[in-house]
Amino acid sequence: MDQGLRKHDMKIAAFTIDGNGTFAQDVPAFAAALAAAEADIILVPGTSRARRSLPAAALRAGAAIDTNVVAVAIDGEKATVQRWAYRQRILTTFSRAARPWVIVTDPALFPEICAKLGVAPAPIPPGPSAETRTTVNGVVAAGTGGESTIKPDSPLLFVAGAGWTKKQADGATHLDEAAATITGFLAKSGASLGSSKSLVDMPEAAKAFSFMSHMNQVGQTGATPRHAKGLSTCCHGEEPHVVGWRFVNDRRAVNLDANCGWAQGKADVLYVADAFAVMKKVNELLA
Ligand SMILES: Cc1cc2nc3c(=O)[nH]c(=O)nc-3n(C[C@H](O)[C@H](O)[C@H](O)COP(=O)(O)OP(=O)(O)OC[C@H]3O[C@@H](n4cnc5c(N)ncnc54)[C@H](O)[C@@H]3O)c2cc1C
Repeated sequence: MDQGLRKHDMKIAAFTIDGNGTFAQDVPAFAAALAAAEADIILVPGTSRARRSLPAAALRAGAAIDTNVVAVAIDGEKATVQRWAYRQRILTTFSRAARPWVIVTDPALFPEICAKLGVAPAPIPPGPSAETRTTVNGVVAAGTGGESTIKPDSPLLFVAGAGWTKKQADGATHLDEAAATITGFLAKSGASLGSSKSLVDMPEAAKAFSFMSHMNQVGQTGATPRHAKGLSTCCHGEEPHVVGWRFVNDRRAVNLDANCGWAQGKADVLYVADAFAVMKKVNELLA
């Protein structure tokens, strides 16, 4: 959506919201920040923390709010935004008269949208500590509930396909080695883990790859993540899987098959190679 040529006379603020926070603490703090900004339009990236507490904060501050915005245009007094509907099938364009209007953008598009509107984002000011009935008696060691492999805020999507469970050149499967290689890369890179349907549907994978579930599935009947980059390994790149990559613009794949789906214009770079060897080397280099 093109930014209009007319100069706008609206006050626009932009806040970044990083780190961790609880709903009880964040709602009053964010509401105070929204009110203190005294802006017509307030831009915020849709991190998981922002998406959890901002709607309630906006309600408290008397502001309108919309999430999942992918483009913003300002023309005079009019602000127009775009967001997808019906699982990314229809791109809608709409505006609101309500002010202040909190516009929560896709995290990856936030810097671009701010730059287009000439706004410099600042960290959201910490509010006064809120009264809460919760008493913290101690912190249980993190990770006891199992670490999540789905990280929407990560810049990288790492997809594991069913090839990780297939018989390799020596005629045997190597499930434990595959699991260690995948989790080793995730730990070192901070990437979010995606999977093909074939892998998460496989009973032997459910046992060996306990760190993934159907929640990781990317594709037509799975998720449509929005990471800036994606690396696919041991996944054939068939259309029902690759449609889930429609927002991942920088795509690379590692596959033994030079004629796999990724080679048919679905990846920017296809490495025709053994993903076991490639990822082992990558893990060594990241060490
Ligand atoms: C209605 C419908 C909806 C669907 N929805 C989805 C969906 O949401 N998501 C989804 O993923 N699929 C979906 N599918 C299934 C999809 O069509 C494919 O069957 C599936 O994606 C295949 O998974 P895969 O590529 O991991 O496995 P495979 O097709 O078995 O491919 C394994 C790949 O691993 C490679 N390989 C093996 N060993 C190595 C190695 N050592 N190094 C490198 N490469 C190696 C092989 O060359 C092969 O290309 C759907 C299908 C239908 C009909």
